[in-house]
Amino acid sequence: MDARTVGLDALPWGQSYAELPARLYQRAGPRPAPAPDWIRLNHAVARSLGLDPATLAGPEGLAILVGNRIPAPAEPLAQAYAGHQFGHFVPQLGDGRALLLGELTDRNGVRRDVQLKGSGPTPYARGGDGRAPIGPVIREYLGSEALAALGIPTTRALAAVTTGETVYRWQPEPGAVLARVAASHLRIGTFEYAAARGDEAGVRALADYALARHYPDRAGAERPYQALLEGVSAATADLVADWMHAGFIHGVMNTDNLAIAGETIDYGPFGFMDAFDPATVYSSIDTQGRYAYDQQPVIAEWNLARLAEALLPLLGTTREQALARAQEALAGFRPRFEARHRAGLRARIGLAEARDGDDALANELLRHMAEQGADWTLTFRRLSDLPSDTAEADEPVRRLFQAPAAFDAWAAAWRERLAAEVRSDADRRTAMRAINPAYTLRNHLAQWAVDAATERLDLAPMEQLLQVLSEPYADHPGWEHLAQPPQPEARVTRTFCGT
Ligand code: AMP
Ligand code: MG
Repeated sequence: MDARTVGLDALPWGQSYAELPARLYQRAGPRPAPAPDWIRLNHAVARSLGLDPATLAGPEGLAILVGNRIPAPAEPLAQAYAGHQFGHFVPQLGDGRALLLGELTDRNGVRRDVQLKGSGPTPYARGGDGRAPIGPVIREYLGSEALAALGIPTTRALAAVTTGETVYRWQPEPGAVLARVAASHLRIGTFEYAAARGDEAGVRALADYALARHYPDRAGAERPYQALLEGVSAATADLVADWMHAGFIHGVMNTDNLAIAGETIDYGPFGFMDAFDPATVYSSIDTQGRYAYDQQPVIAEWNLARLAEALLPLLGTTREQALARAQEALAGFRPRFEARHRAGLRARIGLAEARDGDDALANELLRHMAEQGADWTLTFRRLSDLPSDTAEADEPVRRLFQAPAAFDAWAAAWRERLAAEVRSDADRRTAMRAINPAYTLRNHLAQWAVDAATERLDLAPMEQLLQVLSEPYADHPGWEHLAQPPQPEARVTRTFCGT
């Protein structure tokens, strides 16, 4: 097919990253895939980029999305970055198996990166094979779609395709490429890369780039680099609070996996909690629980301190002044996180107004849920349907608690508090249903979709999950089983980074 009839070459591909100092990236090309085939094209994301899904779904689109064909104006590159991995600094990471194809401007006028992940080794591969197995590609596709449907900032999957190659991890698996779209792929680790080399000009160039692209309102501030740090801190605080409300555990919050734009990025061994336990860890490599559910705000703040260190030379003329400004910028993280987290919990239990004692009431529920192994998603969802004037219909919530009496005592206090609300009970229930999803990407469901695809190239489970996860607040008659926690034998307690 002639490329011009498809129009993909004619798109205004940009590559603003290439205007940064050349030591921050390397030009690289993809390794051809022998026999590409579709896993899935994300029509909604394609349309958001102004791409015609029907065009992209053709052979030319497939060739581009697997890396077999570079659209003429695009000049792919691999980004350099460093990162603190599980607390230890690694000065040289970078896109080892990913290529930044280029940028497209979305329908809102926002420039978006299009990246191919799993497209072959780059100069930053450090001996890795540059590939991605189908399992993690499908997991990232599902995870990012799930968060997006909850309104949580995230990179998006534009497409997932198989390459026709076999990738060897624990077992042979079909190889795949994920084409993903991001506000940018700037990470805290990108700044650490330049800083670790004493490259102040590089840090400054990155900071100016980040300000212009992600925080333009702050670029004109009296102290723009402090304003940048404050902006990243605020976006990260909001993001982590949103994760907590979704029961989401990122799993590998290394500084190279934290995006400057405040989007969720790099889905590895992530998970959505079933029974609430604040110490939940899914990652098989996180033996210390560093990235457990309830550690996420602490780790986010720690990561932001690493960003602050990288920015220090830009923050003041003396080290003391720079440190003081860094501290000032990061001081906002805790209160911002706490405020959003508390407001979110209040809303989740149906309180439109804020009153003394509300936080205690919400925390009391969380304590009972943790002690009684109550399901995170179902507790809030079913609570949404309970009337405020009678406990007669409480059974669906009660039975989520090992000892239902614990819930009864709490529910009595909750109803007393609801009585003080001005909002009608019907409105309260509607509002609760609109923020407490019925469906979440439970680990056993993700595993089900991955196993079907890996073992039989059966993509039906993935499709079914995407159907319900794309509208997580709706009831989907006939699909109730996809809202249920796993049977004990189906519980997934560890997910493998093996990416
Ligand atoms: P991740 O755990 O996916 O965040 O990756 C951490 C670092 O390892 C990044 O620099 C990746 O590019 C690199 N990496 C992970 N898997 C591979 C692979 N199969 N081949 C080359 N580099 C890889
Ligand atoms: Mg990563």
